[in-house]
Amino acid sequence: MRHGWEGVVLKLLRGKDFTFTVTGAEQVTERYRRVHFTDGGLLAATGVHPTMWVRLWFDNAGKPHQRAYTLVDPDPGAGTFSLEFALHDGCASDWSGKAQPGDTIEATVQGTGFEVPDPLPERMLVIGDPASLPAINSLLAVAPKVPATIWFETTHATDRDLPFRIEDHHDLRTVPRPELVEGVQAELPKLIDDPAAAYVWIACDTVTTRTLTAYVQKDLAVPKDRVKALGYWRP
Ligand SMILES: Cc1cc2nc3c(=O)[nH]c(=O)nc-3n(C[C@H](O)[C@H](O)[C@H](O)COP(=O)(O)OP(=O)(O)OC[C@H]3O[C@@H](n4cnc5c(N)ncnc54)[C@H](O)[C@@H]3O)c2cc1C
Repeated sequence: MRHGWEGVVLKLLRGKDFTFTVTGAEQVTERYRRVHFTDGGLLAATGVHPTMWVRLWFDNAGKPHQRAYTLVDPDPGAGTFSLEFALHDGCASDWSGKAQPGDTIEATVQGTGFEVPDPLPERMLVIGDPASLPAINSLLAVAPKVPATIWFETTHATDRDLPFRIEDHHDLRTVPRPELVEGVQAELPKLIDDPAAAYVWIACDTVTTRTLTAYVQKDLAVPKDRVKALGYWRP
């Protein structure tokens, strides 16, 4: 498939193209689907880092439609990984629902990266939703002994049954949409003693992410380098 100008720009930015092949899929909940892939040489070429994501090129009625997805259980030895799709109306979401073994999809790797917080915080403060659950699970695995509080936005009843990889020292707080901002503002300040030592990770829709990032940096005075925020989808 030709990628059009977006593909050209990404290539100029040193993106790399790979073709992934579907090997299977599981319906995790009615609103969440996991698809398994072979990696077309991706993991050997790029290596793996926490919260790593790729840009997938979907076909939207003949037009290229690029969307980001986070690698789940990447295995460089086997050349395999999975992707988990939060399901809603959308071309990428629809593609995952129909994906069959043998189907292929093209991908570009550009823009992904990760820095381990240094120093590690006493508690990770994490805010996300089903689209960022794969990244949240990957983030928690970076510092498996560090406690974390996770505010998780739910839209559907089954969002509480998603595959959270949490342990006893992880405090998962589900908050129904659209009460996330209010809920976080009521609870987060109590968990920050020293703003300079805090670590806040935010990945929700773009509006929520922008609002919470401004709140954490301006109202709670957490320094920019201790806040990692990225809008994952446009509402
Ligand atoms: C770095 C990064 C990593 C990401 N990783 C993942 C991942 O691992 N799993 C995952 O599911 N998503 C992930 N996302 C989010 C995903 O790229 C977006 O949700 C994307 O918009 C889905 O594309 P689509 O073609 O299905 O829908 P679009 O064509 O983009 O949107 C169609 C409609 O669906 C709505 N919509 C889009 N996304 C959502 C959503 N998540 N929830 C509710 N409504 C939505 C839009 O507002 C619009 O009305 C990631 C995003 C980023 C930036």
